[in-house]
Amino acid sequence: MGEFITNVRVVFPEQHIISTSIRFADGCVEAIGTEAPEQGDTVTQGDGRLLTPGLVDVHVHGIMQYNFDNGPDDLLAASKCFPKFGATTVLPTVVPQRGKEMLPKLADLAESLDRVEGAKMPSLHLEGPFTALPGAGCDVMPGDLGLLEELLSACRERVQVMSLSPDTPNILPVIERLCELEIAPFVTHTQSSLAQAQTAIAAGARHATHFYDVFPIPPDEDPGVRPPGAVEAFLVDPNATVDFIADGCHVDPVVIQLAVRAKTCRGVAVISDANIGAGMPPGVYPTPWGFPVHVEPGNGARIADLNHPLYGGLAGSALTMNMAMANVLKWIDAPPEMIWSMGTINPARAAGLTATGKLEVGQDADAVLWNDDLTPCMTWVRGKNVLNNT
Ligand SMILES: [Zn+2]
Repeated sequence: MGEFITNVRVVFPEQHIISTSIRFADGCVEAIGTEAPEQGDTVTQGDGRLLTPGLVDVHVHGIMQYNFDNGPDDLLAASKCFPKFGATTVLPTVVPQRGKEMLPKLADLAESLDRVEGAKMPSLHLEGPFTALPGAGCDVMPGDLGLLEELLSACRERVQVMSLSPDTPNILPVIERLCELEIAPFVTHTQSSLAQAQTAIAAGARHATHFYDVFPIPPDEDPGVRPPGAVEAFLVDPNATVDFIADGCHVDPVVIQLAVRAKTCRGVAVISDANIGAGMPPGVYPTPWGFPVHVEPGNGARIADLNHPLYGGLAGSALTMNMAMANVLKWIDAPPEMIWSMGTINPARAAGLTATGKLEVGQDADAVLWNDDLTPCMTWVRGKNVLNNT
């Protein structure tokens, strides 16, 4: 018994879009282009709609009213929300806070990963703690191999990505250790010099996350001479990749266009970096941070407390992956199969996730059947239908 989906335009990222049929069985893509279902199959008429691999969000802190920092209950509830927005693989992203209480907290989250029932959550993304610039809850801390091992063992080896800064002291041994363990080091929260960034890339930190956000220009060495830094190092290196919060306010669309010019679509991914409020209707929502946020699609989440000194300032992203895809499909001048790679195969590759991000025989059957307005009509995770809006 499987799922047979017929009359769909299947997006094969980086390759082409073909009108065909597809069959899922035992959690995987079992066949593409067969004419008839097998006995006992559930048959879905695609009516010519687009079917893509499920979207892969490698940097996300929460969604709707849920935040991963709140623990396993929020993580499990959030997992069920993501398929409504087309994301089928998510790396729950948490910012490890200084102090020993972070270790049991991470252990609880890691332990809950196997109990998710919606989007897959294979492992965690630790945003820090070895970062050079504060902001968005991040600490400033030099690289520390002892602490790294403590963090990883608290997470029971369920870490896929660790974000770090090339300009925090002692970071190279951390990058090398992560590469040894096949954990992807992402670069972020950095004002590094060109040389620092290039050294980090050469050591294996080849992907930059929420590129341009908390990536200030390094200080002038000669007055009036704009110094290159991490931004230029990542843009120029054909082996380096970047991701953007593609909501239109965390980064201007022109910057994403520039990155695609420099690297082609292959070198660029989208993330949501979402948090509480993402996927909710416009409005004001409470948060655990001491102030409510005003959420409006395309405008991020902004501090809604009139007495807050930063009233109206950005307090995180309220983006969902389907909106990120709708935006880049609008902003980027490239064939759609290339643009779809930015939300599927590219983030999967950057994070070292091999089972997802493309629709090929033997891959996980993670897929989305889209309405014309880029809301999901149906979503499958490992061949199981987890959303049906037909
Ligand atoms: Zn983040």
